[in-house]
Amino acid sequence: MRIGVLGCAGRMGRSLVRQIASTPGCVLAAVCDRPDFPGIGGDAGVLADLEPLGVTVAEGPAAVFAACEAVIDFTSPLVTAGHVALAVAHRCALVLGTTGLSGDVEAVLAEAGSRIAIVAAPNMSLGVNLLAGLVKRVAQTLESSFDIEVLEMHHRAKVDAPSGTALALGRAAAAGRGVAFEDAAVRVRDGHTGARRPGEIGFAVLRGGDVVGDHVVMFAGDGERIELAHRASNRDIYARGAVTAALWTRGRPPGLYGMADVLGL
Ligand code: NAD
Repeated sequence: MRIGVLGCAGRMGRSLVRQIASTPGCVLAAVCDRPDFPGIGGDAGVLADLEPLGVTVAEGPAAVFAACEAVIDFTSPLVTAGHVALAVAHRCALVLGTTGLSGDVEAVLAEAGSRIAIVAAPNMSLGVNLLAGLVKRVAQTLESSFDIEVLEMHHRAKVDAPSGTALALGRAAAAGRGVAFEDAAVRVRDGHTGARRPGEIGFAVLRGGDVVGDHVVMFAGDGERIELAHRASNRDIYARGAVTAALWTRGRPPGLYGMADVLGL
């Protein structure tokens, strides 16, 4: 399968290039990064610490969509809508890992899902998607007197907060409890907040060092606390999930899918 990577110079982009190069059935067909990236015209393999792959870093995404059956996008939410439009124009499947998407961009994705196959997930690892299923089940099982809090930590360069994964875990908890996530979520606490309101789903965010991604969902009751946690030590888990998703789109009808669909969870 001919697969492309947008943002090939990024932390995830380089991991994706290595993953595609080592996965049977995949061919790295085209890659790009931002037009002002100094490595435009260089070799994607060299950029990813591999031997040269003979794939040149293009300066724009159009050439990537034109050359591929599926394109993997881990770049910036500011350019997601443009990438979705190109995917639709080229009838190309899209695997979207970028986080921090606005409501407007989510609406664009939902619309495009009626025309092409899109897999969008704020976390493409098997472990986190399993965790989301467990969180939903625990929230379903426990009485609502258990307070739900989501704690996440990421490296110092991460630009959005709470992480897309933390929000997805909060949504899984809300779904398990049968409540509207937006009504229950408390994303920030500061100053004299008053006591915790019953039913809140709270978030706490830590940033520092080179932490790839830690998430803990706590169910805090009277006299006991249950914690479900996932700790990523390597970005390859996300790249592996994204490449699995790209292969899964082949022959798939149009739709906006998640990793639970890809992994059959
Ligand atoms: P990064 O900053 O290391 O890489 C982003 C890359 O995208 C950079 O090389 C940048 O130059 C490039 N880029 C930006 N705008 C572009 C454009 N218009 N066209 C082409 N390339 C462009 O960031 P990262 O750590 O690799 O993360 C990227 C995104 O993926 C973030 O939103 C992050 O939260 C998300 N992420 C998702 C998962 C997941 O499993 N879904 C896992 C890790 C990171």
